[in-house]
Amino acid sequence: MSVPLLLEPRTRDTTDALAARLSARIARLLRRSLHIRHLDAGSCNGCDWEIQTLLGPVYDIQRLGIDIVASPRHADMLLVTGSVTRNLERAARATYEAMPQPGLVVAVGACACGGGVLHGSYCTAGGVNNVLPVDVYIPGCPPRPHALLHGLLVALDRLDPRIAAANVTVDVPQP
Ligand code: SF4
Repeated sequence: MSVPLLLEPRTRDTTDALAARLSARIARLLRRSLHIRHLDAGSCNGCDWEIQTLLGPVYDIQRLGIDIVASPRHADMLLVTGSVTRNLERAARATYEAMPQPGLVVAVGACACGGGVLHGSYCTAGGVNNVLPVDVYIPGCPPRPHALLHGLLVALDRLDPRIAAANVTVDVPQP
């Protein structure tokens, strides 16, 4: 299992530069599309709004081949927000198990990274890594959309060796 990576919330890349790198990496690794299942595991919705911002006209991640999907069975990545309440712990595990492998888990926000304001509370698991194997942490309360894009890029780096290990060949159709 790879060692989880704690991301710096800032990157010097402009949004356009990040978008170009993301698009190229998605094309190479995933045949031009990255499907994400967003899992709210008990957030205050602050992080969720930042994720929704990525779908708006400013960031418009769908132009890069990224889509938020309704089912984990269609997902390459779980984007988890919230510190994982006890009520949602079982659902979080079931969602992960339904995702095809090799899949990625990204913890978004301080709550998902380590429990945040609910750290130590009886009612949460205290962070996603206590329930699921996290590949990348994106800190912030909430993290900005720019940091989310950077996190997606770093997460895809984690997928590269797994695809190689699984001996999966991805044919990218030529335009
Ligand atoms: S990290 Fe901050 S914005 Fe995100 S769910 Fe926790 S309290 Fe809300």
